[in-house]
Amino acid sequence: MTFLKNLYAWLVIARSNFVASFGSWISLALFVFIFGCLAAGIVRTLLAGRHLKRSSPLKRTTPDPDLTAHASESLQAAIAIPTVTGDREGIVRFREFLKQRYPEVFARLHFLPAPEGSLLLCWRSVRKSDRLPILFCGHMDVVPAGEGWSGDPFAGTVDSEGYIVGRGAIDCKNVVIGLMEAVQSLLREGYAPTRDIYFAFGHDEETGGAAGAAQMAETLAKRGLRFETVIDEGGYITEEHFGRKRFPAALIGVGEKGCSYYRLTAHGKAGHSSMPPRHSAVGILAEAICRIEAAPPKARLLDVIYENMRLSAPAMRFIHRFTVCNLPFSKPLLFRAFGSVPSVNPLFRTTFACTQVRGSEAPNVLPGTAECIVNARILQGDTPKSIRKYLQSLVADLPVDVEPVLEIPASAVASTASASYKALCAVISEKYPGLPCIPGIQSITTDSRHYEPLCDNIFKFMPFVMDSGLYDRMHNADEKIHQNCLGLGVEFYKSLIRSL
Ligand SMILES: [Zn+2]
Repeated sequence: MTFLKNLYAWLVIARSNFVASFGSWISLALFVFIFGCLAAGIVRTLLAGRHLKRSSPLKRTTPDPDLTAHASESLQAAIAIPTVTGDREGIVRFREFLKQRYPEVFARLHFLPAPEGSLLLCWRSVRKSDRLPILFCGHMDVVPAGEGWSGDPFAGTVDSEGYIVGRGAIDCKNVVIGLMEAVQSLLREGYAPTRDIYFAFGHDEETGGAAGAAQMAETLAKRGLRFETVIDEGGYITEEHFGRKRFPAALIGVGEKGCSYYRLTAHGKAGHSSMPPRHSAVGILAEAICRIEAAPPKARLLDVIYENMRLSAPAMRFIHRFTVCNLPFSKPLLFRAFGSVPSVNPLFRTTFACTQVRGSEAPNVLPGTAECIVNARILQGDTPKSIRKYLQSLVADLPVDVEPVLEIPASAVASTASASYKALCAVISEKYPGLPCIPGIQSITTDSRHYEPLCDNIFKFMPFVMDSGLYDRMHNADEKIHQNCLGLGVEFYKSLIRSL
């Protein structure tokens, strides 16, 4: 024992002697090390900046005037037929409108059996080809108009600046009309595809696509079909990537996050609110929500998001670029820097949002239970089950039940090394020279996930140029698209179909 005490005393004395003699040297070495790391990081950021692919401002080209005028009229008429999900009559009228508006398309393409409301067409190749077919997706239904419109949301009018205004203008009647216009125009030019091209337009995408796209996918699967690529709505051409003006980019969705809803039910004592318990059901629920909001799942950097960050770096502010150019060392800094950016944070982790809350029916009644819905957007690597377990662990010591209402897993991630991705980017480069193609994971779900069993390369990209102000109008008031933007989109679809 004495020996140990002596040894300890000797160690303490030796340590203080060492610090007294070399303390300043250690501090200096530490300072030099930290300063060196920082300087190296800055140099790396500056050097990397020289090699990063910058974007050049979009060249304003004017689309073919006849094509644009026809497409604009079509989209205006399409918007004027309200097709809010569930409106069967509206969808029937919309399909009739397409038939009358595009007689050549409906005469030359083959109808495939589709659930009532949806539309499944095949444009057969002129010659026998062993190349896999291509599938274009879209949807004919729209979300309800909501409030705040400056005019009639289903009038399909053109404003003084040349924008076509109305529900569905960018989600997703622009895609359906854009594709129909492109096919009709190509048919009139005498073009015939060299592989089969399919078009699948659902009627219930906005409520999950279970009766539309899911059934059409089953029909195609029963025919033993597999697709080289599926191209759906989703990404677009932004005019200001990462908020940086004059930094346009083509954002291509190569996967989408899963979406789950969980019902949280907190139990408490029901009764008169004049004699409340120390912790009511609503209070317990509030505590559970606070815990969930304070403990987001751990951040991760998927390969595709690393690619996204690397390609987006030139558009970022210096401090953000610093965290990207010094990966993998700067990973914790990257997560911290973007942790408070709502548009970027979801790329790194599963997110939680508490949406609907329900308590007592009367202001003076304590409810026996209080409920809320937690919407989890699930990043690849997590599963609905693992997230449910995580939520349960956060509230394990509270009288709170967590039960799933809907659980949709995250999609697979399409490869950016695939020939289909390269073909898509080649058309983007041809139409918009110098525009970077940036792959990403979408937080929203679309119909294309139903085709996952039939295709490994599902891309979510609509060839329409939008700034963030315009994109934010999706599912919002005054949704609109510029006539020229629509015309350019039709021309893009024509080039894409020719190139595939
Ligand atoms: Zn949509």
